[in-house]
Amino acid sequence: MAVLDTSTLETEIAKIVGKENVSTDFVDLIAHERDDQFATVPPHLPDFIVRPANKAEIQEVIRFANENKIPIVPYGSGINRKGLCIAQKGGIILDLRRMRKIEVDEKMMVAKIGPGVNFVEMVTALNKYPHLRCLAPDAPATASVLANYMLRGIYPTATRYGIDHLITMEIVLPNGEILDTGSAATPGSPGPYCGIVNGPDLTKLFQANVGTMGVITEGRIRLYPMPEKIVPLTIRYKDFKSMIEPATQFAYKNLVAGIWVMTFDPEAISTFMDMRGADEEVFMSLVFLEGTEEEVQKHKEQVVKIAAASNGDTMDLPDFMAKEFVQDHRYMRSFIRGWRKGNLWGCSVYAPMTNVVKMYEDSKKLCKKNNLEGRLHFEAIPVHPFHNGQLTYVDPCVMWDGGKPEEVENIRQLSADIRKAFLDIGIYGFFRAFPGTINSHELGMYGEIWRKIKKLIDPNNIMNPGNPPLH
Ligand SMILES: Cc1cc2nc3c(=O)[nH]c(=O)nc-3n(C[C@H](O)[C@H](O)[C@H](O)COP(=O)(O)OP(=O)(O)OC[C@H]3O[C@@H](n4cnc5c(N)ncnc54)[C@H](O)[C@@H]3O)c2cc1C
Repeated sequence: MAVLDTSTLETEIAKIVGKENVSTDFVDLIAHERDDQFATVPPHLPDFIVRPANKAEIQEVIRFANENKIPIVPYGSGINRKGLCIAQKGGIILDLRRMRKIEVDEKMMVAKIGPGVNFVEMVTALNKYPHLRCLAPDAPATASVLANYMLRGIYPTATRYGIDHLITMEIVLPNGEILDTGSAATPGSPGPYCGIVNGPDLTKLFQANVGTMGVITEGRIRLYPMPEKIVPLTIRYKDFKSMIEPATQFAYKNLVAGIWVMTFDPEAISTFMDMRGADEEVFMSLVFLEGTEEEVQKHKEQVVKIAAASNGDTMDLPDFMAKEFVQDHRYMRSFIRGWRKGNLWGCSVYAPMTNVVKMYEDSKKLCKKNNLEGRLHFEAIPVHPFHNGQLTYVDPCVMWDGGKPEEVENIRQLSADIRKAFLDIGIYGFFRAFPGTINSHELGMYGEIWRKIKKLIDPNNIMNPGNPPLH
């Protein structure tokens, strides 16, 4: 931490962003001390909350922080759920929510957005272009679009459209210089929208890097055509295994925009969805059909047939739920799907579909071992038809109560047990570079190069130096 005292530092930062945009008030700091994963990522207070208005201010703040060795944690909206915005070494939380510019390029089907733009604002801005949409996660509508795309999210329609919606970005590096990863570098370029640049695609270097290499000040994101029709369906099955083959086929045959293989323990369904009436575990797939009226009808017939061959019973969703899913693309989202009470733990990974049954069975066993039986909600979603429906997002979620010390211990142990079990079964990688899941030292040469690049770009290790993987 810096040699200058806090009050002098605050005065200096205030000269850059204005007095009203820097705070050392305990009331502001305490709000950033923890997130709902405090069982696995310990709380820690930042020293300053700083709210820059533009990239020039960010450049000055970063230069100042670098000179004084003050850690910086970029902050989109702080709801990543895994402690990525906890200032483990103190320093600055750089709150980017004042940077809300949105520019839509209808012709190129992209938007240029600031890091403070959230999904409500993005979706609302696109209401002016009824033939276009962005892909929104099942996250609260306050999530930063850029942070979500930079981290690579999971989306209801990931089976058809994948998980990468970010094309290029503008980044303020720890030395205060600006890097544009797009085609803007080409002399006379018509714009920064293209990821096909003169050499390696540096966007990928900054993606999923959780604010450890610089501050993203602008992102260029993909927009997609709005389909004529979106129809969600549910399919009930008798057991977990029966859901796997149909899901793989839906993805491979490109019949669906999204297929979510899911289970709910009785207690999970009541805390998760506020639904009643489940006495035993529910095995249910959620399907999103998209396209023209005719395509949707044709695909629906095939889906029903494939599901029936595995004893799956297809149903239309109740009207109110179907409407909510469809409106996600046009809405101001009126509710957050997800848990209604308590805390939710998850350990998301990418794995081949062939390993998912074992992952589910081990998750059940490990919940039981750690006194969390009856709380599991398990999800698996193929994320691109290209891999034959095999490349799959997997998420065992457990409802827990952070107010009970014994449950905090149980969740800590479950977290360690499931991490180990999944690595033993075989995964492609963890969903995001969350604290406690990835350690670059376990990744051989890949990790070594990653750390070297980090050192080159951020020699003073000021950028998000807490628990992210680059220790
Ligand atoms: C109820 C709930 C449900 C959710 N469901 C989903 C879901 O279905 N799909 C999904 O994808 N996500 C989901 N999430 C996760 C969450 O929405 C995303 O992680 C979110 O998009 C990122 O959070 P954020 O915008 O608050 O970013 P933050 O938490 O503020 O930041 C995330 C990380 O990115 C870094 N960062 C942020 N902005 C910048 C920047 N401009 N430059 C450099 N680094 C930056 C931060 O330092 C941090 O490491 C859910 C979350 C909740 C609470």
